[in-house]
Amino acid sequence: MSLSKGITLVENDLREASSLLRTLKPTGKAFILGVTGPPGTGKSTLVDRLIEVYRKRGLKVGVIAVDPTSPITGGALLGDRIRMAGHASDGGVYIRSMASRGWSGGLSRATSQVIQLMDAAGFDVILVETVGIGQSDIEVVSVSHAVLVVLMPGLGDDVQVSKAGLMEIGDMYVVNKADLEGSDAMVVSILGVVRGMGPRSPPVIKVSALSGEGIEKLEVAIEAVRSRFKHGDVELRLRSAKGMIIETAKSSLLERLGRLSQPNVERLALLVVSGKLTVEDAAKRLVR
Ligand code: GDP
Repeated sequence: MSLSKGITLVENDLREASSLLRTLKPTGKAFILGVTGPPGTGKSTLVDRLIEVYRKRGLKVGVIAVDPTSPITGGALLGDRIRMAGHASDGGVYIRSMASRGWSGGLSRATSQVIQLMDAAGFDVILVETVGIGQSDIEVVSVSHAVLVVLMPGLGDDVQVSKAGLMEIGDMYVVNKADLEGSDAMVVSILGVVRGMGPRSPPVIKVSALSGEGIEKLEVAIEAVRSRFKHGDVELRLRSAKGMIIETAKSSLLERLGRLSQPNVERLALLVVSGKLTVEDAAKRLVR
């Protein structure tokens, strides 16, 4: 079965998707790099650069772009078409956008499943691009072997960035748009935050995805982690496996809750409204 067909199956949540996934032989070869950061910082532009970097090395690259703005139908596919245009004739690149709206938990499972499909299809690098503004995006990133947080000058004070939880999840920080004013100040302020966070000291790298400046440095930083991965680093592999298990389990629980709620929630709500049951007890009954 083709990768596209497999992904469509997974996205539509058909029962065949789980039998397909059971028959897959994971290669464990695919290095999963999460790319996140606020909207407009240049993630897509940077991902395109990284595609070039890995294609030059002869590696097969898969991209899963989690698009929070597209409606479930149409939008994501249009995005795919535009982004694929640059790589249309290249069989070593596969880009798939996935709309997150309305998925409530299903998205992270679908992402894990698409990662498994791409791994089985022999992809070497999988870039999971998310907009780092919501909890679900941060969850999706937990399936990665490494997370790249993309920021840019003029984002406001670093407190804002910290608030979004982005300063906790990065294994590398990229200050993109180095061609704009204020990028050095941004680097200094990020360094201040990450150094204040204890022994972990993720690199902070200034790049311009548009001009290509600094991309080589970024490549070296990513390769340092990918090389650990290739040599079988257990810690990295466990991290991603744990993320995938938890995300898949979470969405199964959410689906189960949905199934349980439908017939019962109305009846329980009547009991709550008439004062016969507390919300706490009603919720307990629902999941019992
Ligand atoms: P995303 O929302 O994070 O995926 O950001 P995009 O990749 O769509 O980029 C947002 C805008 O920033 C686009 O207009 C890009 O052309 C622009 N952009 C991306 N990288 C750079 C850069 O290095 N320098 C400048 N000046 N603009 C950039």
